[in-house]
Order: sequence, then structure tokens, then C-alpha cells
Amino acid sequence: MNKNFGQNDPKIVDYVEKLFRPEDAILREVRIECERKGLPAIQVGSMDALHLEVITRAIGAQKAVEIGTLGGYSGVSILRGMSPQGKLYTFEYVPLHAEVAKKSFENAGFADRVEIYVGSALANLPKIKSQGPFDLVFIDADKETYPYYLKWAAENLRIGGVVLGDNTFAWGRITDEAIEEPETQKSVLGLREFNQMAAQGGRFRSTILPTGEGLTMAVKVK
Ligand code: SAH
Ligand code: MG
Repeated sequence: MNKNFGQNDPKIVDYVEKLFRPEDAILREVRIECERKGLPAIQVGSMDALHLEVITRAIGAQKAVEIGTLGGYSGVSILRGMSPQGKLYTFEYVPLHAEVAKKSFENAGFADRVEIYVGSALANLPKIKSQGPFDLVFIDADKETYPYYLKWAAENLRIGGVVLGDNTFAWGRITDEAIEEPETQKSVLGLREFNQMAAQGGRFRSTILPTGEGLTMAVKVK
């Protein structure tokens, strides 16, 4: 659950969690409800959720896009980082996940500030283009499509807008040369191209935050 937070040092993890209290009762309930409904436990770790909230707040985001809703754990955190006028557009392929997320957003008091698009994110993203430009795009869905999502972000963020891409160390396999499993290979290649575009594609000034999973952070400069 901690996804290697704090260099895997249990003393650091314990210290940070006691001090920053990343998961309150509402987020805890979201996580437990996801488990009850049989959703995969692949939401961001609690400290990564706090990173999302604080980064959203730091950039003053009012319009945020999330690709990969799952049960709403990260979405609630992004919404918490926005002012009461802030709006989240979130994209989810699986109807059951979207259903759980809808309930999560309602329970957290965000029902009227979120739109969930059910289906392929690539197919649905054009529907919100006219609501842009956006302040934040959080990418956390199918890894092989990350490069396309980044391209969409480059076209639809304001200058100074931020992309956050989760899992960009590819579960420790980002530098692996030979990957046996075809699905994993597609994911790793997608993540590698995404990081390459973020770092050297000319549209963003970027870094990769060394969370357990790797969180690429790219600011649109061009
Ligand atoms: N951001 C969530 C976790 C997302 S897990 C959190 O931290 O709480 C990834 C989600 O992306 C899954 O629910 C999966 O169904 C969804 N997904 C995968 N491929 C997708 C696609 N092409 N379009 C939209 N959603 C997709
Ligand atoms: Mg993730």
C-alpha cells in the first residue's frame, strides 16, 4: 500500500504518515469500497494522493483532467486541491469503476464538480476540448497510450499547465532491455516514450519525482 514510500524505510513511512496524515476517513472509505466491489487495488498510495492534492493546490488549478478514474481515490484528492469553483473531468473505461467513483465523489461532496466519461479515454477526450485550456492533466490509465495522452495534454493545457504521469518507473522495469511478457513490454515502451517526450520533446520542462512508482511532472512551456 505504501508503494515503497520513503525509500522503504518503515521508520520514515511511520513518521511521515503520523505527521502528514495522508488518508482521512473519506479516502479510507473510498479505498475500502473499491475493495468491497472487487476493483483492483491499484489506486495511488496515500502519500501520492497527498502529492496530487498539494501540487493541484500549488498551481492554482481550476480545471483538471484525469485519465484513469478507477474508484475515485486520486480524483477526490485532485478535487480537494482545487477551489470550490474547480472542476474535474475524469475518464474511465470500465463502467463498474465509474459507478464506484461516482459514489466516491458524492460521498466526498464533489458530485456537482466532476464529470465522469465512461469508455476509451482516447475516444472521449475530444468531448472536453472546448472546455479547455486546462491547468492539470493527471495520467494514470493504460501505459501504452501515455504518449498520446501527453500529446493531447500538450495541445490542451495552458502554458504553465502541468502533466503528472504515474508509474513512470514502470514497476522498476523502465530500463529493462528484454521483456518477455508482451503486455508488459507494451507498457514499458509506452512509459519510456512518454518520459522521453516529457524530458526532451520541446513542449515541457520536466522532472521525475522519485515516489515509489515514479511520478513524472511536466510543465508546459511551449
Ligand atoms: N487514478 C486511479 C487509479 C487508476 S487505475 C487512482 O489512483 O485512484 C487505471 C484505470 O484506468 C483503471 O480503472 C482502468 O480501467 C482505466 N483504464 C485503462 N485503460 C483505459 C482507457 N483506454 N481509457 C479509459 N480508462 C482506462
Ligand atoms: Mg498508477
